Amino acid sequence: METAGGWISMVDSIIRSQRPVHRVKYFILLFFALAPGSIGARAQDSPRINSESLLSHIQTLSSDEFEGRLAGSESGFKTQKYLIDAFSGIGLPVCASEYRQEFEIRGRQEGLEGANILGLIRGSSENTDIIILSAHFDHLGIRGGMIFNGADDNASGTAALIEIAAYFLENPLAHSLLIAAFDAEESGLQGAGAFLQNPCVEVDRISIIINMDMISRSQSSELYASGTFHYPPLKEILTNMDAPENIHLLFGHDLPDTGSDDWTLASDHGPFFQRGIPYLYFGVEDHEGYHNPSDDFENITLPFYVNAVELLVDVIIEVDNNMDMVKALRQP
Ligand SMILES: [Zn+2]
Repeated sequence: METAGGWISMVDSIIRSQRPVHRVKYFILLFFALAPGSIGARAQDSPRINSESLLSHIQTLSSDEFEGRLAGSESGFKTQKYLIDAFSGIGLPVCASEYRQEFEIRGRQEGLEGANILGLIRGSSENTDIIILSAHFDHLGIRGGMIFNGADDNASGTAALIEIAAYFLENPLAHSLLIAAFDAEESGLQGAGAFLQNPCVEVDRISIIINMDMISRSQSSELYASGTFHYPPLKEILTNMDAPENIHLLFGHDLPDTGSDDWTLASDHGPFFQRGIPYLYFGVEDHEGYHNPSDDFENITLPFYVNAVELLVDVIIEVDNNMDMVKALRQP
């Protein structure tokens, strides 16, 4: 169980690993992390997520060693390998015959290969409906000699994917949960497109996709759920749930004709929406680190991130509990 002591040792080890210039920031973070009521009540009482492991994954994936995780590059391949090790380490079953689903990346140069990394946690009931939980692991690589580490975009969702999968392996849902780490999102949602062209499950069985992209950085603790405009019953499910406190779950970014404020097609849930599959997309609004070399681990908002991942666990449980309602939202 994660205690305040756990937080202290975890944040302490992070502080020691940082350059001095960042230390002040971490002491401030530590203060807010330990101040009464600053962590969601649920997260404090009974955390489902191993926050130490979560932060270790996001820190590693967004370190310079991973060179910005560009799809089709050496560092993209290294990230795939990291995920395969993490998935097999928690005992996640494969979705097809192996974790990797290779595909050709189009539009940049000839012969580039990407790969989605896919696992499947079977549900405890006979029901064969499937929930997809997804996050893209690729980012922008190195540009102009600068590494775009993509801590929030989207090492945050990727690390969450590993830890949420670990939780539901121990605490299975009634329905199956497909764990999808998509590649080449930044190259035009190509990993999600490749999945739908060559799915490891019957597409008709997919009831919803829950996509995480940028869930770790918000000074105001605001996390958006996009999709409820298209699927009002999903808003009902989310507003009724017993979510962690001290995180503001907001609805929006899904209205047609609002340009880039409409996130309906902005990340990997887009191709699923276009196939009539309901979606919920969780993310923060663009910040100064968005697609910028300053999207670094030391700029994420620690307590907010942990709370957001705890909230995602609640969302998945509620969706599982309300599967008939969710499934009815599918378009033929
Ligand atoms: Zn992203």
